Amino acid sequence: MPDMTMPAGLLQHAGGEDYAVTELPELNKDEIARYSRHLIMPEVGMDGQRKLKAAGILLIGTGGLGSPLGLYLAAAGVGHLGLVDFDVVDESNLQRQIVHGTKDVGRPKIESAKDRLSDINPHIQIDTYETALRADNALDILKDYDIIIDGTDNFQTRYLVNDASVLLGKPNVYGSIFRFDGQASVFYPKAGGPCYRCLYPEPPPPGMVPSCAEGGVLGILPGIIGVIQATEAIKLIIGQGDPLIGRLLLFDALKMKFRELKLRKNPECPLCGENPTLNELIDYDLFCGITPPAEVTEQTSDWELTPAQLFSEINNGRQITIIDVREIHEWQICNLESYGSTLIPLGQFPSRIGELNPDEEIVLQCKMGGRSAKAYDMLKQAGFKNIRNLKGGILAWADQVDPSMPKY
Ligand code: ZN
Repeated sequence: MPDMTMPAGLLQHAGGEDYAVTELPELNKDEIARYSRHLIMPEVGMDGQRKLKAAGILLIGTGGLGSPLGLYLAAAGVGHLGLVDFDVVDESNLQRQIVHGTKDVGRPKIESAKDRLSDINPHIQIDTYETALRADNALDILKDYDIIIDGTDNFQTRYLVNDASVLLGKPNVYGSIFRFDGQASVFYPKAGGPCYRCLYPEPPPPGMVPSCAEGGVLGILPGIIGVIQATEAIKLIIGQGDPLIGRLLLFDALKMKFRELKLRKNPECPLCGENPTLNELIDYDLFCGITPPAEVTEQTSDWELTPAQLFSEINNGRQITIIDVREIHEWQICNLESYGSTLIPLGQFPSRIGELNPDEEIVLQCKMGGRSAKAYDMLKQAGFKNIRNLKGGILAWADQVDPSMPKY
């Protein structure tokens, strides 16, 4: 096991030069006043603050994790921040995405985040990329930054960020959150540590791990994990302390406990192992078993229907049994009970298939269409023929049919 204590100058500039030999930018009078609590700490001091000013950090996602990351890294004086996001601010974001405000609902997240971060610290440069990170743009966007921070919550992007960071030799500060649980680590094979693929060689089957949009997340949790990620990034830049390289930090907010797992580099890792076979970025949708949207659209006609179609079929007097496969607490927010919908949560589905009549016309529905697609497969295997999936779930119903329905 290599020594994971941070050697001085571990982090290199995007240009490949060591910080120790780089001519660091000077601080002006305003900056000296602003950063005075850092400057009087021996671990930061003038050198450390100038390293922060010289550093570039790319934040992938300006949501739950990206919010505290952006706020604290901007305040700390990281000289160059990059923000990647394609989303717009939605009301349901505000419970945790604290970089955005109520007045920002409907605005692109990168614009809202940039305004807030520039207000916190006008001395830093902020570049924005209003795009999804993809295999064909990732290397180009990442190459100009010293540290990459992954604040996304899907497996395709997580593997993409990991692979692109390893290929470019950059540290990837990882964090993930779900309900009351969070984890964080620093993947940096160039410094002797493992990568995300060493920890998780294969993605979980699609739909196996619910996203925060499906399973929920305590609003405070991304604050805790995001601030841990920001701390690690700052330590990497100033070259102080013991980084989370080779360690996975696990946090349980209900028990209020931190645990730590030792992570070992996998010598067989196709990316950072002894005989790497992955030398370029791949198709991450394919790798994670996600069907590209185009194909789904082509196949929708026979197995899916839109909320508008369902509404018109019901209005035309067609007898349709609607089965809602969400959880009871989701049902309590909104449901199609007035159209005769029945709740059978996906977890109970295998044992309750017997309650369904194969002769009836069945439409399966969940929040966004993912879980009901799994229920569709179960019914198909059980021999049901007359079944369809509600495309986009109850959220699409709220958009297309009933705007008065609360969304979550
Ligand atoms: Zn690896």
